[in-house]
Amino acid sequence: MTPRVRFAPSPTGDLHVGGARTALFNWLFARKTGGTFILRVEDTDGARNTEEAQRGIVRGLRWLGLDWDEGPEVGGPHGPYFQSQRKDIYDAYLAKLEAAGRVYTEENGAVRFKFSRTAITVHDLVCGDVTFAPTEEPDMTVRRPDGSYIFHFVNVVDDIEMRMTHVFRGEDHLSNTWKHIDLFHALGATPPTYAHIPLILNPDGSKMSKRDAGSAIEHSYIHEGFLPDAVFNYLAMLGWTPRAEKEVLSREELVRLFDLAEIHSANARFDMQKCQWFNAQFLRALSPEALLAAVRPFLDNAGITIADEAMAAAVVFSVKEKVSLLKEIPAWVHYFFREDYPFEADVAAKLKAKPENAALLAAASAAFAAQASWTEETVHAAIEAAAKEAGVKTGALMPLLRAALSGQSRGPGVSTIAHLVGQASCQRRIQRALDAMAAESPAA
Ligand code: GLU
Repeated sequence: MTPRVRFAPSPTGDLHVGGARTALFNWLFARKTGGTFILRVEDTDGARNTEEAQRGIVRGLRWLGLDWDEGPEVGGPHGPYFQSQRKDIYDAYLAKLEAAGRVYTEENGAVRFKFSRTAITVHDLVCGDVTFAPTEEPDMTVRRPDGSYIFHFVNVVDDIEMRMTHVFRGEDHLSNTWKHIDLFHALGATPPTYAHIPLILNPDGSKMSKRDAGSAIEHSYIHEGFLPDAVFNYLAMLGWTPRAEKEVLSREELVRLFDLAEIHSANARFDMQKCQWFNAQFLRALSPEALLAAVRPFLDNAGITIADEAMAAAVVFSVKEKVSLLKEIPAWVHYFFREDYPFEADVAAKLKAKPENAALLAAASAAFAAQASWTEETVHAAIEAAAKEAGVKTGALMPLLRAALSGQSRGPGVSTIAHLVGQASCQRRIQRALDAMAAESPAA
């Protein structure tokens, strides 16, 4: 039988890291086994569900590259994939329970399911066999007096209707799984194979909540400048250790290696630093063009205007070793795209610190102007020649040039900066620095 698995979020808020990882394990399993991955929106709670939350969940899943074979936007043979649109189906299943003599109606109109009150064992792929003793709980309401259905009932009905073979979900659902199995049996259906995935905890061992760092996919990852492949890799390893020699793995490698039996039964601890480390690795592996495409929204946000695509790609590529998040890049590169960049306070002070600095910069500018070709190598040679001519070490001229050309004290190599901004811009930048130094120097 072709495996059929699903992610069944309740759209009450942002896509949470725990939900994303549940979706990811389902997706990995489906892709590994040639199965079908279904997205089902569990939106029966009109008071708590919002359209915006549902759209946010879809955006988050799409961003992570977790494409679904059936569900919202793609359709499929078992739709609609919104529980709010499936009332007729639930009514029909309630009639089945009635016919089987397993429900009764209270005076207030609530319909209750008669538990079998037998011991029920969940054969869980991650947690092992978990046996629940015959329950002493009161029978479970499946339909409220207002006609709406409760989660346990619609969840089971849809898992039957949508032909789910496996249910992989958060461990918080394990304690109710006996109720689901009881319903499956009462409806004459075989329960799916279960795997309850351990929770994700904060570094201090507390339960991760919506407000914790790293908890919301859009807020903590998309807006912060993570790459989807890096978050995918990190989330996959939160509770699973692939049998591989390395940690940085592509989607294809993760699909190939995935084995549900290897999912840890202990809770996972979230580590933002590790997640950022993964991001840095993926960022460094991007081509200049791919890096530019990824960082472009952040450049736009910072008001950086790009005139030359190839130059911009080379610019962002030149700082990739300096950052671990895309959002850090604008601060490292803004001066490449404007000539009225500010001088950091200590940089301005350094330029003015020695009277001979102006002459050194002027010498470099003259050497630049004399260049017939403009490559990183010729730029470097010009700087060396200018330093020699002026009787200083190249290492003394470099920081001055960096300061003049960028207004900063850190960045890619000085020859790289000079080469990328271009010969004419170098002249203007140095002149502007000289003007600023002259204007600000107290008269001798
Ligand atoms: N709507 C449930 C949740 O978001 C789904 C539980 C399940 O996967 O069965 O937790």
